[in-house]
Amino acid sequence: MQVILLGTGYPRPDPERAGPATAVVVGEKLFVVDAGRGVVMRLAATEFPLSALRAVFLTHLHSDHIVGLPDLFNTSWIFKRYTPLELYGPEGTRELAAALLDFFAVDIPVRRDLTEMHPGAGATINTHIVEEGVVYEDEDVRVTAFLVDHRPMGPAFGYRFDLLAPGEPLAPTAAVPSAPAGSVPGSGDEAPASSSALSAPPLAPGEPPMSQAEHAQPVIPSGARNLLLRSIVISGDTRPSQNLIKYAKGADLLIHEAYLPEHFDKVDSPEVAARLKAYHTSAEEVGQVAHEAGVKLLVLTHVVPGDSDEIFLERARKHFKGTIVVGRDPLLDAPAPQISLATVDGRQVALSDFRGRPVIVNFWASWCVPCRDEFPLLAAARARYAGDGLEILGVIHDDSSQSAAAFAATYTAQWPLLVDADDVAWNAYHGAFVPLSYFIDRAGVVRAVSYGPPPSASLDDYIAKIL
Ligand SMILES: [Zn+2]
Repeated sequence: MQVILLGTGYPRPDPERAGPATAVVVGEKLFVVDAGRGVVMRLAATEFPLSALRAVFLTHLHSDHIVGLPDLFNTSWIFKRYTPLELYGPEGTRELAAALLDFFAVDIPVRRDLTEMHPGAGATINTHIVEEGVVYEDEDVRVTAFLVDHRPMGPAFGYRFDLLAPGEPLAPTAAVPSAPAGSVPGSGDEAPASSSALSAPPLAPGEPPMSQAEHAQPVIPSGARNLLLRSIVISGDTRPSQNLIKYAKGADLLIHEAYLPEHFDKVDSPEVAARLKAYHTSAEEVGQVAHEAGVKLLVLTHVVPGDSDEIFLERARKHFKGTIVVGRDPLLDAPAPQISLATVDGRQVALSDFRGRPVIVNFWASWCVPCRDEFPLLAAARARYAGDGLEILGVIHDDSSQSAAAFAATYTAQWPLLVDADDVAWNAYHGAFVPLSYFIDRAGVVRAVSYGPPPSASLDDYIAKIL
């Protein structure tokens, strides 16, 4: 599974933070949890077509979580979702679905019967009223709803996604069997034995073997962020919830809302501030929730306010010693953040050195299993587009220079390998998971973002945007 934070904001409009929405991708299937403002625009910035949309799960019916739903419903139909929208949500969702059809009562018959002649099934909605328990399951993934506490709004749910697919390379995080509650990677309290569980996944035929140096190290350093997540929990909006902690036990990833109390104190009356604080989770509390649940990675979203990442981190860290990421929306059609870093062989390289050329900035690590699929694709693309001047900047994430260089040499990577020890570039590019690739045009503007190894066909599409 992989996750894309489509929108990390809240009701206040912010061009850098769309409304709450999270994509969970399982193979070619796209699931969206909540559909806040801008969800379709953010999806358009990913490699996933709207036709891949399999289901939408609503956590609750607050406006900021649903205002993007009309767009998602209608636009995904126009762009080839020709089956009913599978819509999951709490009591009230049936009325919402009926209202959506009313809202488009003039549009739908025209597009269906008079002009584009889109198949009518896509313009319908299958509504599923959610109760606690398993709400969706196919051969690859199970989705479980659980009650959270967002009173007086309610009922409100969080969702847990569990990967079922056999045969997928084992997620490194899942290679640590049943970590004791409260033990989190990087906290220093893991049993040393866990390092033996961090063995390399079996190599597929044709995969280059790892070097001795790589074998000597744990494949996954503490705090590793990997796309091959097997369990993902999304909180929706809630105050600190024991039920959420129960359902999030041992999950690879917890995506949780968070706020700073002083923000409500500043912008609201004392009475309103008190009511808002009573149904959300503060940055400090979210660290405690993640600690009690024993999750491996904590990502904050629905952050109120949106401009205080450092404070969120500092407070959440008081109780949770694992990796914490303050979620950010994808960057797109904006100037690429400047990068100036040393290479593994000691040269200084800046992104601005490549102005006038198309550039892929690729974040990766030697321990990252999907990076093994991506590297040969990138190498082939670089050769294919040599005449266009395409360059790749490989930014090493959460990995030693030696391991990274050995890995790159195995794949005969000829591009600069940059050391980002302090995560300066990673943070500037809103990194959450590797591999992550930004496609930057000759004028230095981000034109596409790829999460995970893109299929080679998409890679060409992306590169075409920056030539
Ligand atoms: Zn809410």
